[in-house]
Amino acid sequence: MSKFLDLGLREPINRALTDLGYEKPTVIQEKAIPQILSSARDLKAFAQTGTGKTAAFSLPIIELADDNSKNTQAIILSPTRELAVQIGNNIEEFAKYIPDLKVVTVYGGANIEEQIKQLKKGAQIVIGTPGRTVDLIKRRALKLGNIKWVVLDEADEMLNMGFKDELDKVLEATPDTKQTLLFSATFPKEVEAIASNYMTNPVEVASGQKNEGSKNVSHEYYLVTEKTRYPALKRIADINPDIYAIVFCRTRRETQEIANKLIQDGYNADALHGDLSQAQRDSVMEKFRKKNIQMLVATDVAARGLDVDNLSHVINHKLPDQIENYNHRSGRTGRAGNTGVSIVLVNKKEKGRLFPIEKILNKKFIHTPIPSGKEICKIQLFHLIDKVVNTEVNTSEIEGFLPSVYEKLENLSREELIQKFVSVEFNSFLSYYENAEDLNNVNSKDSSRARASSENMTRFFINIGRKDRLNPAKLIGLINDQKIGDKIEIGAIDILDTFSFFEIDKNYEAQTLATFEENRPVFNDRKVNIEITKTERSSSPRKRRGSRRSNDSSPSKGFGRRREKPQNNKSNSGKSSERDFGRRKRKR
Ligand code: AMP
Repeated sequence: MSKFLDLGLREPINRALTDLGYEKPTVIQEKAIPQILSSARDLKAFAQTGTGKTAAFSLPIIELADDNSKNTQAIILSPTRELAVQIGNNIEEFAKYIPDLKVVTVYGGANIEEQIKQLKKGAQIVIGTPGRTVDLIKRRALKLGNIKWVVLDEADEMLNMGFKDELDKVLEATPDTKQTLLFSATFPKEVEAIASNYMTNPVEVASGQKNEGSKNVSHEYYLVTEKTRYPALKRIADINPDIYAIVFCRTRRETQEIANKLIQDGYNADALHGDLSQAQRDSVMEKFRKKNIQMLVATDVAARGLDVDNLSHVINHKLPDQIENYNHRSGRTGRAGNTGVSIVLVNKKEKGRLFPIEKILNKKFIHTPIPSGKEICKIQLFHLIDKVVNTEVNTSEIEGFLPSVYEKLENLSREELIQKFVSVEFNSFLSYYENAEDLNNVNSKDSSRARASSENMTRFFINIGRKDRLNPAKLIGLINDQKIGDKIEIGAIDILDTFSFFEIDKNYEAQTLATFEENRPVFNDRKVNIEITKTERSSSPRKRRGSRRSNDSSPSKGFGRRREKPQNNKSNSGKSSERDFGRRKRKR
């Protein structure tokens, strides 16, 4: 029997909650629902995301709204379109057995005429983003004269986003008799000002301690430099093969850049930020919810609307500008009784910003070293073996092929077979990480070693190799002789038998091509030419030739799934080439 009945909610609402699997109220629901049901006093609630606050304010409104009247009785303001849509969907689910209760959600970026049409039909509950709500009030499409409840959800975020004027306008358009319900995870002075200007003697309720983070979340920090920040992110993903995470970035640009890099490096990742169209955002969110995307790189604002309960990690690629936002971010994991890890990548300077967060959380960040290549290989290998052991075999589907497969493999012993299968699946991880450096010891000023910036290099093919008596030193000499520019960074060099590869700072890509073209150098009687190579050095253990974008909806997609064949690009195999990962400054 649902415990929601005890809170005073009627049977159709209870039935809907049972359908949703809500067995008992959360702390904030237990405190807020009876309070709103029994009293018209304003209410100030301290509640983080993930505490069940949507139901806490909407269930009593559904209970008390007059569904015989078509007047709009509740206006719920939310900072983002996604969150507004989510609240609207939640309310429709809660009220599914109350057919006359109508809900309309209004937000910018969508056809206003359509929204006006819906409002004209009558909706007792309207959810809106502040800007669009004000527009609709101005057009007289949204009438707030009969409002009984105003909900300000994530009030702190609405103020952060600069919606103060809109909040004032909406609040002014509502009758004095209304009940105002203000929900916020943090109460900076701007939120307190709204509370004191627009609320009368409010009751305060809290889910747990004010501002305290979820008990189910542990907090870790990794010390990085600007060069190791991205490689560290990849290693964190690699050591957690089943990672399902939001990677938070501070700006839209940073978000897109990190997502692009991860996608290029073969990770199941995508970006979510305000520069995307509504349709793009919906599509990314849908893929993330379905777990077709393992790592969603997002801005704080865009991720607000995401209702995903089982995230394994929240990763702060950079700390938020406002420390209160750390709580919002980390609150995305450790929800619905699950445990979660919130990771912060900080450089030495940023480390000091962890202390005030620790004070708010009342918890310490655990310093965690960036995993070594060896540790990653071990985890990945056992993950692979577990997957094999747990794979269900549907013999009827593969039956027809098996005799010829057995025949092909009959000369291999059990050990050989295991070794080969592990190599097929695992070689790229091993070869990528076999000589991987310890990222914990990369000095921020030392640009000579980190492979980290490989992403900033262009890889060139050159038509001379070992047979021409070329070696790395001679190749550097040859490049320097062309006088491409001052202090150009030369990256990895791979000398092969009849040709070779070298990397040059991406900014000098065109200049390098043009200078070689113009100088037409000769090396040991061979005319030298270079080309930009299309088969780049793998910058990721997951990178495969011909690998698909992460978000294609192939049915064979899944977590930790490796794509296509292992890389057997000779130039990357390591064995046949003289490798030198060092960066060199061009000699003057
Ligand atoms: P919210 O804080 O409103 O975003 O809710 C966080 C998540 O908890 C959502 O996925 C809700 O569907 C879920 N939830 C809210 N209340 C309950 C409850 N009483 N029992 C189970 N799940 C709940």
